[in-house]
Amino acid sequence: MKAMVLRRFYEIEVPGEPRRYPELPSTSDPLELVELPVPEPGPGQVLIKVSACGVCHTEIDEIEGRRRPKIPVIPGHQAVGRIVKVGDGVSRVKIGDRVGVAWVGWACGSCTYCVSGLENLCGDFKATGCDLDGCYAEYMVAYEDYVYSVPWNYEDPEAAPLLCGGAIGYRALKLASVKDGMALGLVGFGASAHQIIQVVKHLYPNSKVIVLTRSREHIELARELGADWAGTPQENPPEKIDRAIDFTPIGETIPRIMELLKPGGKLIVNVIRKRTPITLEYTKHLWMEKEIKTVANITRNDIKEYLEIAGKNKIKINYQTFKLEEANKALRLLKQGKIKGAAVLLPNT
Ligand SMILES: [Zn+2]
Ligand SMILES: [Zn+2]
Repeated sequence: MKAMVLRRFYEIEVPGEPRRYPELPSTSDPLELVELPVPEPGPGQVLIKVSACGVCHTEIDEIEGRRRPKIPVIPGHQAVGRIVKVGDGVSRVKIGDRVGVAWVGWACGSCTYCVSGLENLCGDFKATGCDLDGCYAEYMVAYEDYVYSVPWNYEDPEAAPLLCGGAIGYRALKLASVKDGMALGLVGFGASAHQIIQVVKHLYPNSKVIVLTRSREHIELARELGADWAGTPQENPPEKIDRAIDFTPIGETIPRIMELLKPGGKLIVNVIRKRTPITLEYTKHLWMEKEIKTVANITRNDIKEYLEIAGKNKIKINYQTFKLEEANKALRLLKQGKIKGAAVLLPNT
């Protein structure tokens, strides 16, 4: 099978971006196209022929070594495909089923976090496309307990971004404990936020949504999708916000959001790693009972709930498709903030 493989850490070269990791070699093509044997599903696992694989900022974190994967690794954790083979003991799913795979690839099932439904915090958490091989390939294996049926009213490529961008954004929204009528800020407007704004419009119809993003195209998309106000982080929105979700890969956005929060406001940071440091001043950014909380990983329950919400409300997915061998190009465009919506690879076309 064809697969895109990461063999060592690199800084991804993109025009206009300064070098941040001089200790790493830099390249515009960090992933290598290779031919590998199709993997065999082990006990409890299934083999999936991948038809769509979402591209996520986390892959950039992995390539640049901020979230270290096993090496070599096949990245990718938003897969949609069909089961073509099952391992011993598989009973929940069968050959021919259309399924999705997400970031949560495996958790121990017996620690205090796992038994309380917080498998995302499990010390033995294994992430798809990071600790386990993922979907930047024609085939992948996954544990049957960690695959999901995909809403029938979504095509494969439009369903892939539901599995990370959408589902983790939904976890962030739950952690934000929004009440209808509160003003909500979404900062950064890519694969995740463009779904979450639609969910907010369904769940909290009286809430105002304020979007801050540096890209003109993303500002336009936010307005099309119902933002009450959208502008750059340098501009001042018309009002302060009660809750905010930060989707940006850089540290500088956090103090800016904290300035915009009302007393008692809460910020949820929906990013695994930040590319640049976060500098906070206690009085200016945190005083008046302001809170910051991060989102770590995801639970199976978040994914199931989100797939149900997406299917019922037909959350619209803006996406751009790429061939598997164009994965490096998709990653460069994502790093530059030039993807409108989500980037999706089509490994079997
Ligand atoms: Zn992701
Ligand atoms: Zn556990």
